[in-house]
Amino acid sequence: AATPSDDPTIFDQIINKEIPSTVVYEDDKVLAFRDIAPQAPTHILIIPKVRDGLTGLAKAEERHCEILGRLLYTAKLVAKQEGLDDGFRIVINDGPDGGQSVYHIHVHLIGGRQMNWPPF
Ligand code: 5GP
Repeated sequence: AATPSDDPTIFDQIINKEIPSTVVYEDDKVLAFRDIAPQAPTHILIIPKVRDGLTGLAKAEERHCEILGRLLYTAKLVAKQEGLDDGFRIVINDGPDGGQSVYHIHVHLIGGRQMNWPPF
């Protein structure tokens, strides 16, 4: 977890290719890349290229509906691309209690092993 902040995050450097990442999907609106600390055989982060105030889901406004939908739709595309045909998990950590550490909204796509519920 980290303190919520509007400061630029490391994801801007990933978007701008200033630091390397393993990109698995990219279009004009979103970027999907492998998490540096994978929690499962497949662990991908899907982010908007423009944050537009979306430090986290709690900051969502009506104008964000399109990009929020696109993040989820991209998760589906990438799940298919990764061969996660038996299922996968989508996670959005929000705020300190949610365990969020990077304040640029992101969807975790996790798969390749059996998930548990409740998760913790
Ligand atoms: P959060 O904890 O905010 O939901 O998720 C942030 C995720 O970003 C973590 O799973 C963390 O491993 C990942 N992460 C942090 N820094 C980097 C980085 O520099 N590169 C990549 N690929 N992932 C990162």
